[in-house]
Amino acid sequence: MKDLCLEAINTAKKLGVDYADIRIINQRNQEIILMDLSPKEIADKESIGFGVRVLKNGAWGFASSSLVTKDNIDSITKKAYEVALASAKTLDDKGIILANEPVHKGLFRTPIEIDPFKVDINDKVNLLLQVNEKILRVKHIVKAFSRMRLTRRDQFFASTEGSLIETDIYTVNAGYTAVAVKGGDSQDRSFQDYPLNKGWEHIQSLKLVENAERIAEEAVQKIDADFPKAGKKDLVLNPSNLSLTIHESVGHPTELDRVLGYEANYAGRSFATTEKMGKFRYGSEKVNFVADNTLPSGLATTGYDDEGVKCQKWDIIKNGILLDYSSTREVAPLIGEKRSRGSARADGYYNLPINRIPNLSLQWSDEDITPEDLIQGVDDGILIEGEGSYSIDQMRLNFQFGGDLFYEIKNGKKGKMLRDVIYQSITPEFWGSLDAVSSDKFWEPRGFTNCGKGEPPQTAQMTNGAPYARFRNINVIRGKNE
Ligand SMILES: [Zn+2]
Repeated sequence: MKDLCLEAINTAKKLGVDYADIRIINQRNQEIILMDLSPKEIADKESIGFGVRVLKNGAWGFASSSLVTKDNIDSITKKAYEVALASAKTLDDKGIILANEPVHKGLFRTPIEIDPFKVDINDKVNLLLQVNEKILRVKHIVKAFSRMRLTRRDQFFASTEGSLIETDIYTVNAGYTAVAVKGGDSQDRSFQDYPLNKGWEHIQSLKLVENAERIAEEAVQKIDADFPKAGKKDLVLNPSNLSLTIHESVGHPTELDRVLGYEANYAGRSFATTEKMGKFRYGSEKVNFVADNTLPSGLATTGYDDEGVKCQKWDIIKNGILLDYSSTREVAPLIGEKRSRGSARADGYYNLPINRIPNLSLQWSDEDITPEDLIQGVDDGILIEGEGSYSIDQMRLNFQFGGDLFYEIKNGKKGKMLRDVIYQSITPEFWGSLDAVSSDKFWEPRGFTNCGKGEPPQTAQMTNGAPYARFRNINVIRGKNE
């Protein structure tokens, strides 16, 4: 593979490019979905291919192919060069200037204990089958869905600057949903997906079967639960609920390409504009967001990003103040930064890398604070667990989020179950209302494997970790009519 990478680089140099890189990717995806007691999908797909990116006269050219041979690499590299030449003619300014990056040579591999692809596929199907059997045994349950997704991406990267990098990344994930029907009403409850860059040992640690009956029973209990009374409430949010809120209200608005208006087509712009850097109050003093693409088991922990920039750790929000963004070699210089934050990632060999959310997490408290401590400080509030539906506007300001499980908090105690709760706020007001977070003991590196962005749309994965956190005086509404 390394020889083939160097072939592209030599060809690009002979053509006289300003910069070029190649990524050859061998990817394997295994996906198992069970509906009730039968498989809905069992897929095991392997793909190989490469993409070449050429910079000439300030413009990118890109071409890709699934035919990984020396001759084809030469001709695809030439094609990328021609696209760059043609695109440069349409520029009305100097075009793209890349931030500097040291030359890297090396290998990064996800540390795994058990290779997920060496586990017999029948064992995987049986595991999900046991989950669905347990769910379906619970009275009033009408449907059980369970899912497992295992991926491996082995990538070789080389650039005309001299970098030559292999990244071999494993990601595993599993979860399930129980659907209950009672008295003409329906509710569902999920064992929330918890993807990590780990081996099969992560799936084993999830205790999928052990939790199935409880999850199913909670789906039934949700039907009989009361709706919330609309109004201002204090909220205690668990890590898997907060993960999505973080992703949408902090992760996307601090992607520098979006901030600069380059990503307006697909999912809008951002209110967190560059003149706010270093001074804008994004949240309370207790709000600290750290981007860390070196986080163990993080979904964006790849050693190097897809343009050969070494993974880094940096502050995005410190003591509530907006300090920085995620960036690529292309956008970092536009705000005077000398180096990219290493957040360029591509979905497959057939896409150009774009600015993606890093592993971005809300930091825990150094004090010994438990979720119960947070609940004790609430007179009238709601505890929310898990992800639900959501919406957020094009500037990432006004939003509403649901959840998967809700409990009333009265006079410092967790009380009866509620259903169909939605909280509404405005990004800086919401994070401004955070008054306490739990310790690291209750911090979880939750995250996503399906973050969509770009045109054509690309999918990326990243961790958005969180402790439990308490928010004061947030508007709550009832999410569903009877
Ligand atoms: Zn996303």
